[in-house]
Amino acid sequence: MCVSNKSKLTNQIMEIPSPPSRITFLHDKDKRMQNLYYDIDIRSTYNKTKLRNVKRKYWKYAKFLSDIYIERVQRLVWEFGCIRDNAFCDWQKAKRISLNNIHNPTTEIEGNRNHKYYVYREADDEFESMRIEEQLYDQVISLVQDKIKDISKHLKDIRFYKLCAHCETMNNVTISGCKSKHKLCYDCIYNKKECPVCEEDMGLLHCDICYRYKKELVNTGCKNKHQTCKVCLGKIKRKNNLCPFCRETCSKNQPAVVPIYVEGTQHTVEEMEEMDESYFASSRIMSYR
Ligand SMILES: [Zn+2]
Ligand SMILES: [Zn+2]
Ligand SMILES: [Zn+2]
Ligand SMILES: [Zn+2]
Repeated sequence: MCVSNKSKLTNQIMEIPSPPSRITFLHDKDKRMQNLYYDIDIRSTYNKTKLRNVKRKYWKYAKFLSDIYIERVQRLVWEFGCIRDNAFCDWQKAKRISLNNIHNPTTEIEGNRNHKYYVYREADDEFESMRIEEQLYDQVISLVQDKIKDISKHLKDIRFYKLCAHCETMNNVTISGCKSKHKLCYDCIYNKKECPVCEEDMGLLHCDICYRYKKELVNTGCKNKHQTCKVCLGKIKRKNNLCPFCRETCSKNQPAVVPIYVEGTQHTVEEMEEMDESYFASSRIMSYR
């Protein structure tokens, strides 16, 4: 028991965590593509020109590899496959002849059989190494294509990113209700009544339905003059048109809900919410003007 424990311990000590292995990129002079792939963190880059340049590099490289893959690699895999199959047939033929002459073996027949076997083995090895090369191309091309998709998505995500005046990170921002109109990210403005930069009151009102501070509240149209924010009222009107506080029907005479536009976009908050709820959540857009 003692011995096995000791050997276990030794094994643990011996296991030095190796750095994550980098895939060798094909036709990659000075490892430029490899370094670009592993050393540049796309998600923390907000410079759109730089991102587009990097994307272009990947795109060119993927195109270059795909051309070689289609014109050379796939053709060779096919050719080597044919050579191997023919060699296999030849070997089987030589084997048959050898078996037919089993009672009368000659050095010529046996030599031919051995020779054909080695020819087949060699052809098979070449075919397999070509297949490995094909897989390598496949792997690198798909890695690069995934990266291109990643960059495109990231570029889309950061379309309206600006520097938050409070935490100084790039993010979707909302203009604060303060006099200086500070641009603030969701985390810095969420549920605050005062601008975190100048500590000025933003003049916001609390909506008791969505629990957020909004610029404006509107009457639901019930007799009790209950109020919600415009976004909530829009949802209520579409759902059942009942005041969420007293369950009374919201008045039809209530003015139509004025569309609220998401900062930096052409879309209303409701459109954005309907378009893609996950997008709305992930991009953390504030739901007031
Ligand atoms: Zn912030
Ligand atoms: Zn401010
Ligand atoms: Zn609300
Ligand atoms: Zn009510």
